[in-house]
Amino acid sequence: MPLVNQADEPLAAEIIAVGSELLTPFRLDTNSLYLTGELNQLGIAVRRKSVVGDDQERLTAELWAALSRSPLVFVTGGLGPTADDLTRKAAAGATGAALRRDPQLEAGLRAWFSRRGAVLSENNLRQAELLQGAEVLPNANGTAPGQWWERDGRILILLPGPPHELEAMFTAAVRPRLAGRWQGQAWRHVRLLLADIPESQADAIAAPLYTAVPEVETTILAARPGEIELHLRARGAAAGPEGALDRLSRQLAGAFGERLVSPESDSLEAAVIEALRRRGETLATAESCTGGLLGARLTAVPGASTVYLGGAITYANDIKQSLLHVSSSSLKNHGAVSAAVAGEMARGAQHRFLADWSLAITGIAGPSGGSAEKPVGLVSMACAGLNEETVVVERRFQGGRDRVRAYAAAVALNLLRLRLLKCADQAANSAAARTES
Ligand code: ATP
Repeated sequence: MPLVNQADEPLAAEIIAVGSELLTPFRLDTNSLYLTGELNQLGIAVRRKSVVGDDQERLTAELWAALSRSPLVFVTGGLGPTADDLTRKAAAGATGAALRRDPQLEAGLRAWFSRRGAVLSENNLRQAELLQGAEVLPNANGTAPGQWWERDGRILILLPGPPHELEAMFTAAVRPRLAGRWQGQAWRHVRLLLADIPESQADAIAAPLYTAVPEVETTILAARPGEIELHLRARGAAAGPEGALDRLSRQLAGAFGERLVSPESDSLEAAVIEALRRRGETLATAESCTGGLLGARLTAVPGASTVYLGGAITYANDIKQSLLHVSSSSLKNHGAVSAAVAGEMARGAQHRFLADWSLAITGIAGPSGGSAEKPVGLVSMACAGLNEETVVVERRFQGGRDRVRAYAAAVALNLLRLRLLKCADQAANSAAARTES
């Protein structure tokens, strides 16, 4: 039977993640993110998701409500053998379908345990219970089978909690079934990464453009300190070549100009590395308050070794002097957190590593160490280039230690990205001038 839905409406799904641990600060529900990505590729929109603790009554109520709203409901977790694994019982309560022990599943479980020389307890046999009328979704990576149950155009899919079990089951047994039943139009997604712009300012620029194109769903996300992501998605004609999605992406790219990190790079550091690689140039870093964050971000990019030579973590003043030749007069007259010292750190790293470019960071990450003159969050970031003027930017970042450090690393990377863009523009302009003359 095909899935019930209006032909021009994306099929709406709901996801319920089960587990009391998902309601603590220690475990994040990542299964629903995975499922949403997969479902969107099939043209199925996720309209609602929820997290419910190991409580049979609440889960039954949630499931009942979900099934009355949505034609496609996923439940992840709570299929294990222990007393707090309540998904099967709650599904039986919400659907009215009886739970019965499936002889084939029982035989499979017994065989699984005996192959491993393990003792099968009565609890383990709970995993052999099937909703009346459900199909078994085999679990290649564990003992808890999934279940596909449907009635009157409503589908309920029970999947195990451990992500590697759920993902393998979805790929092998759920995706092909859904794809065979639902010829929906896949969503196409465009992500635009913006550097060093406050979220409110990004929205003020973007909103007049995206509100005029309702067929493209637009979301603004503060991804990391100093980085904002714009997510655009569309389906059908809007997602086709030169459709509304492409047009809106281009308009937004024009509106954000150099704030937009090249769409070919998925991070600021990747954009910097790619730009340097194209130019055949190298980079070194000198870090104080970020203690290697900049180096860690750069080296996380595959292929960074072609351009990144290395960095110095110079936390103490005498190390700034001995390794980077920062002058004692600058330290004395301006202090370790100053534009003068940041500039000298950058030039020192550039000489020391024989690099084409260098970045340096020195600042007060807090929570202590600030003063009226130099408050917590004050950071100087410098960029030096061979035969180039050294550029220093001083900023006061808000927030705790982690945020200040992350912000400083992002702004430093962006400083170099903008300079490399400028060099590329100058090269293009002089090439154009040569062609004209
Ligand atoms: P098991 O047979 O392992 O008990 P289960 O289906 O009962 O499987 P849970 O007990 O609910 O699954 O969860 C097992 C583990 O899977 C959890 O400790 C957690 O690490 C992970 N997990 C569960 N749900 C999620 C989720 N929504 N997102 C990410 N991880 C999850």
